[in-house]
Amino acid sequence: MDNNIKGIHHITAIAGDAKKNHDFYTRVLGQRLVKKTVNFDDPETYHFYYGDEVGTPGTILTFFPWGNRVSTGRRGTKQVTEIGYTVPEGSLDFWLQRLEKNNVIYNKIAEKFGEPYLTFLDPDGLKFELVVPKNGDSRLPWATPEVGTEHAIRGFHNVTITTNKIDATAKVLTEIFGYRLLERHVNRYRFVTDAVNEAAIVDLVEAPGEAIGFVGGGSVHHVAFRVSDDKILMDYRQKVLEAGLQITEKIDRNYFYSLYFREPGGVLFEIATDNPGFAIDESVADLGTGLKLPAQYEPYREQLVNVLPTLG
Ligand code: ZN
Repeated sequence: MDNNIKGIHHITAIAGDAKKNHDFYTRVLGQRLVKKTVNFDDPETYHFYYGDEVGTPGTILTFFPWGNRVSTGRRGTKQVTEIGYTVPEGSLDFWLQRLEKNNVIYNKIAEKFGEPYLTFLDPDGLKFELVVPKNGDSRLPWATPEVGTEHAIRGFHNVTITTNKIDATAKVLTEIFGYRLLERHVNRYRFVTDAVNEAAIVDLVEAPGEAIGFVGGGSVHHVAFRVSDDKILMDYRQKVLEAGLQITEKIDRNYFYSLYFREPGGVLFEIATDNPGFAIDESVADLGTGLKLPAQYEPYREQLVNVLPTLG
């Protein structure tokens, strides 16, 4: 099973204000900042990684906070339109009150595929669901003084992709990534991989008349799927090429190795490795505390520190 796609590795989204983003994810949602680095293509912008204690794949949500240099995105087709996190049974009332107290936009608790969930928007309008999964979630969460273990987010539950027609995206999931159709409700098709128990779901929503979304602030930039190591990564590169799709060369992201390809439904997919992980340049206890720069930007550290926003 270890040569399979092991669910979601990370999701990367675009934010506006860095300080607001940092406060929302670390304080309101109780996630750990596991890495503070810069956008490798635009080093005057941070790249934040939030997740559990060590940044386990399947818990990592990353952001480029572009400040006022980014226009607001619009949800639509050819996009990841929702991110689902799992929370423990009995915790939704805690979350509802917490979102209310922090002036977060949320909706009333609802249910789909037999699982209760609570929808909310982050400060930039990125859409989330906190889901109580039918089959539980055995992952150990990061706990904070305000969000204890009994309520804490465990990691990803699912990601939702909206397209005009799901066929081509479904084919990538089933024929290349090894997912299968689990359930369907109206125009929502739930795909799952049996290779892992958590972060294993991709929902495809078919919306024939809907307009193409605009990727900007509050939008997902790409979703990365997980493989064990860079040897298996390259096997998937071959499979994607054999399916007639274009894919990048292997890219070293310091904390994992990556490949990117545009799936035929229009969403940017990445495949990323477990190795080497986030503890490569900081101890587990210190994760997220220092500004970590890739080697090419280390000579410019002082200038970058002067332009990057302070997080307070
Ligand atoms: Zn990525």
